[in-house]
Amino acid sequence: MQKGKINVQTENIFPVIKKFLYSDHEIFLRELVSNAVDATEKLKALNRSGKADVDLGDLTIKIVLDAKAGTLKIIDRGIGMTADEVDKYINQIAFSSAEEFIEKFKDVDNTNIIGHFGLGFYSAFMVSEHVTIETKTYRKGKGTKAVSWSCDGSPDYEMDEIATRDRGTEITLKIAEDSKEFLEDSRILQILNKYTKFLPVEIEFGEETTFEEIDGEKDDKGNAKTKEVKKPRIINNTNPLWKKSPSELKLEDYNNFYRELYPMQFDDPLFHIHLNVDYPFNLTGILYFPKLKKNIEVQKDKIQLYSNQVFITDSVENIVPDFLTLLHGVIDSPDIPLNVSRSYLQSDANVKKISSHISKKVADKLVELFKNDRESFEAKWDDIKVFIEYGILSDEKFYDRIKGIILLKNINGKYFTLDEYTELVKATQTDKDGNIIFLYTSNLDDQYSYIENAKDHSYDVLVLEGVLDNHFVDHMERKLDKTKFARVDADTIDKLIVKEENTVSKLSEDQQKELQPFFEKELDSKSFNVVFENLSEKDQPVIITQPEFMRRMKDMQAMGGGGQMAFMGDMPDMFNVVINSNHPIVSDILNEKDEERKTTLSKQLVDLAKLSQGLLKGKDLASFVKRSVDIIK
Ligand code: ADP
Repeated sequence: MQKGKINVQTENIFPVIKKFLYSDHEIFLRELVSNAVDATEKLKALNRSGKADVDLGDLTIKIVLDAKAGTLKIIDRGIGMTADEVDKYINQIAFSSAEEFIEKFKDVDNTNIIGHFGLGFYSAFMVSEHVTIETKTYRKGKGTKAVSWSCDGSPDYEMDEIATRDRGTEITLKIAEDSKEFLEDSRILQILNKYTKFLPVEIEFGEETTFEEIDGEKDDKGNAKTKEVKKPRIINNTNPLWKKSPSELKLEDYNNFYRELYPMQFDDPLFHIHLNVDYPFNLTGILYFPKLKKNIEVQKDKIQLYSNQVFITDSVENIVPDFLTLLHGVIDSPDIPLNVSRSYLQSDANVKKISSHISKKVADKLVELFKNDRESFEAKWDDIKVFIEYGILSDEKFYDRIKGIILLKNINGKYFTLDEYTELVKATQTDKDGNIIFLYTSNLDDQYSYIENAKDHSYDVLVLEGVLDNHFVDHMERKLDKTKFARVDADTIDKLIVKEENTVSKLSEDQQKELQPFFEKELDSKSFNVVFENLSEKDQPVIITQPEFMRRMKDMQAMGGGGQMAFMGDMPDMFNVVINSNHPIVSDILNEKDEERKTTLSKQLVDLAKLSQGLLKGKDLASFVKRSVDIIK
């Protein structure tokens, strides 16, 4: 037996290991299982290359939990270690890297930073009071006897030859008092499912029950009888879809894999992108466009990041561009540096390249879909729109790549590219300064009367009711030449799109001045501004509009966007009360001799306009109803 002291520079690293990875103790299992997988893969590779000639046998890695004994075992049939190798890899190298790690981070008071670090073998001490390794190398000859190594978390270890054991390594953890959760079957299963689901070597944990048909036996109804069969439970899919070649896969395979990744997602994804890059970095993966729900925040961080099939994290901010976090799927890359802090990731050149590559792939795929099958692209548009808008707003290059396929939908459910739409409305919807006006509605019900009015004038109206449409509109105005967006209730159509025939007014300026006070009576002058316009006789006598600019600012503030505006306090709503000088009723009111009736009618018209904007509430609504009844009487 050999006793020794691990060469410790740091006084005692074990308490530090415990303290440090506090929030993420569970990763010890990922580390140990990854080591077992590495050892197995190495042996396979040696055999393949002819450097070893071993009867591989069953290579399944077994995880064995014994709650009574308080132990958890990780058993592999990989290359194993000789006594010299244990000394070298465990006592010296692994230890010094663990020690280095601790040295680096012991003053960092944020456990999350190191949440995704691998500490390797020594992470076992986060949860164990005692760790034993029993191992036998695949080699034959002198110095290849099986050995055991054990350590109780002090710098002292014991090493010994053991009589005989199978090839490979068996790690036994005596789980510490404060880590009893790792003696629960369900907890271990959960960790294995999280980190090892797609590892390339089979991992077995416990048993599962399945039902098998009994040969030749049938029940009363003629159905085959079944019996319960207990089988070793295999945790992982060793050949995940992203590792396969796209040419051998069907749509169904992708959809099935999606469900394997997200058992709680019931909708099929809209489409997928299979990533496969060798140069200048190594990356494979599959990204899915999910059917997005209204609340985009909660759907972020669903992409799973793997390094050689070992799950690392599903919070990928800083690794993929923010808008891409709305996608689902897997990215697997050994080139994403995992042993560094998140803040470092942001500036890592590899990460940047990977980001922009993914962004480009996604754009290419969208363009391809549009070109190959516009009809199905249009059918998906409403679902992918928020994603595309997010991309447009946050990634200039992405915008440049996809600007030709941005679609606009109008109230008739027709889709247009920006160019097509400009062509469509250019002739009829140009204002006096030569700007093309894209009219839109953000709510088909609330803005119904305004939409009808636009239709009466033969104008086209777009539907922009998405969560990001405000920002989108802003962005597009900056991008497009001489193009403005205006919500249907932003201004009277005639003011937006000036037409020759509307220039004469039936009311003189003096007459307008005379009428003004009647309409202004009881209106809050801070929010409502009375103006006269020469609309058509067929238009409503009074219309309420909301200046586009002010409304957009307010909407953005409400969304928490708009930077500085957030600090300006609540902005008031601003409305124009537009009196149609050409409407016969307005002339009637002007000519009305009875002052009281003049006031009543003015007020009634204003209230009607307010009512159609949904602005008439509470006391005002009650008095409107009462007044209406009086008028009818
Ligand atoms: P890393 O895996 O990053 O090299 P670890 O601390 O996890 O660091 O392991 C140190 C070394 O110990 C490994 O590189 C390997 O040589 C050896 N080792 C660990 N576990 C096993 C195992 N199950 N079978 C064979 N060798 C192992």
